[in-house]
Amino acid sequence: MKIAVYPGSFDPVTMGHMDIIQRTSQIFDKVIIGVLNNRAKSPLFSVEERVKMLEEVTSELPNVEIQSFGGLLIDFVRQNQAQIIVRGLRAITDFEYELQMAQTNRVMAPEVDTLFLTTNLRYSYLSSSIVKEIAAGKGDIAAFVHPHVAEQMRRKLFG
Ligand code: ADP
Repeated sequence: MKIAVYPGSFDPVTMGHMDIIQRTSQIFDKVIIGVLNNRAKSPLFSVEERVKMLEEVTSELPNVEIQSFGGLLIDFVRQNQAQIIVRGLRAITDFEYELQMAQTNRVMAPEVDTLFLTTNLRYSYLSSSIVKEIAAGKGDIAAFVHPHVAEQMRRKLFG
């Protein structure tokens, strides 16, 4: 069984992430979305909230599972018997960091490969940070996130 891990902060999950998740779910038997529990990044949503939102927006993809993780990505990958790490590449600016991570992980875990999917051009400019900025400025984020996520953002920011 081919299992992929798609790791990230997903603070919150955007249409760009969803596009990668959907495409990955067609390639692999099982996709585990690893939601990074990283306190240093001071996220808008708690890891539990991010997991819940991902569960909601992927409910129609039966081979996608959501888990949170802390610590090293390769340990999480091994615990789940996965063989592949999936990452999305938006632009050249993503490349240097992603290459460094992939190469480091490969040295630490030679049996695990990193697979890069290029972003759907519709979402290549999109990031969680931009979505948060627009939402904080009371802008319309309907084109960027699932309606459930838009509602959670409205509640979080404006009560
Ligand atoms: P991280 O903190 O690890 O960068 P993110 O949640 O920002 O986590 O992103 C997780 C993954 O999704 C990364 O591989 C990132 O390049 C990818 N990604 C982010 N935004 C998009 C997008 N708009 N389209 C496709 N992939 C994206």
